Amino acid sequence: MKLRFTPEDEAFRHDIACWLARKLCGPFAQLKYRGGPGDEHSFVAERKVWEQHMARDNWLCVGWPKAWGGRELSISQQVIFHEEYAKAGGPGLLGHIGAGLAGPTLIAFGSDSQKQRFLPGILTGEQYWCQGYSEPGAGSDLANVRTKAELDNKSGQWRINGQKIWTSLAHEADWCFMLVRTEPGSRGHKGLSFLLVPMKQAGVTIRPIQQITATSEFNEVFFDDAVTDSNNLVGQPGQGWHIAMVLLGFERGVSTLGQQMQFANELKDIIAIAKSNGAAQDASIRQRIAKAWSGLTIMRHHALRHAQRTTRW
Ligand SMILES: Cc1cc2nc3c(=O)[nH]c(=O)nc-3n(C[C@H](O)[C@H](O)[C@H](O)COP(=O)(O)OP(=O)(O)OC[C@H]3O[C@@H](n4cnc5c(N)ncnc54)[C@H](O)[C@@H]3O)c2cc1C
Repeated sequence: MKLRFTPEDEAFRHDIACWLARKLCGPFAQLKYRGGPGDEHSFVAERKVWEQHMARDNWLCVGWPKAWGGRELSISQQVIFHEEYAKAGGPGLLGHIGAGLAGPTLIAFGSDSQKQRFLPGILTGEQYWCQGYSEPGAGSDLANVRTKAELDNKSGQWRINGQKIWTSLAHEADWCFMLVRTEPGSRGHKGLSFLLVPMKQAGVTIRPIQQITATSEFNEVFFDDAVTDSNNLVGQPGQGWHIAMVLLGFERGVSTLGQQMQFANELKDIIAIAKSNGAAQDASIRQRIAKAWSGLTIMRHHALRHAQRTTRW
């Protein structure tokens, strides 16, 4: 696969680079290169203000259709956007799960009222999302999800019980999109549904998982009789696996590119440090750097390949 940039794409590159140079300064200069992996807790409030600033010029949901408030950029222009954002030191985006995953999935599968209710908060950078897929017994084997949701016909609400794990940014999220088992006794990828659940309620407990960096991007999230309205089911009951897989297609494509480009910035810093302090003379360190570079290059090609296959609406 080869990505070529047209003269129009290069003109777009110039526009976004100029916008970033003009805006990522003054009070926002302190956010440059901040908020990435291992630095998740830095400048959280300020980064939200930055995201809302981006939103005012419509730079948060660049791939969404214009009909739903996005810029409807082509894949190559989305790649350019992420490249320039990383090059300018754009801070880690707390809203990327909403903009890159929840939003595109709702556009593809949500009802009109779900789109009208949830998309504006993502576009303006005011509503944050997290992803409730993984469980202690459902990681690589995701179809082993055990968290249950039962529809209470009297209250008209889904009642959710179970545990999710590795839930990035759950502590900042207003909403969680979840893969849950709605058909009692079902197994594997059958009987699963895709549910939108408010995080700020008594039945949801968030416990941070501390990483070696001493920060905690991830959380364990416990659902004990948590509730959500019946109209927060996306698609049909039992369609959860299909919707969840389409969402993962978005995750593996353009949405991942931004993160990889931040990793590329970090690697650039490591190489500069290794050159300046003499560590680059050590053959084993050179090997490790080369391995990291190869890994990043492979990740980038995978993401570009997936991005081209991703569902378009
Ligand atoms: C940065 C990051 C952010 C994440 N954020 C979220 C999030 O927000 N929400 C969410 O739901 N999840 C999230 N995850 C979880 C992630 O997407 C995976 O589901 C999870 O990491 C894999 O599950 P596990 O940790 O239980 O590993 P396991 O499934 O236990 O796998 C452990 C190891 O065993 C190997 N393995 C497993 N099964 C087999 C097999 N049958 N044969 C051979 N080898 C096997 C795997 O390849 C792996 O090396 C995140 C992960 C990362 C790294």
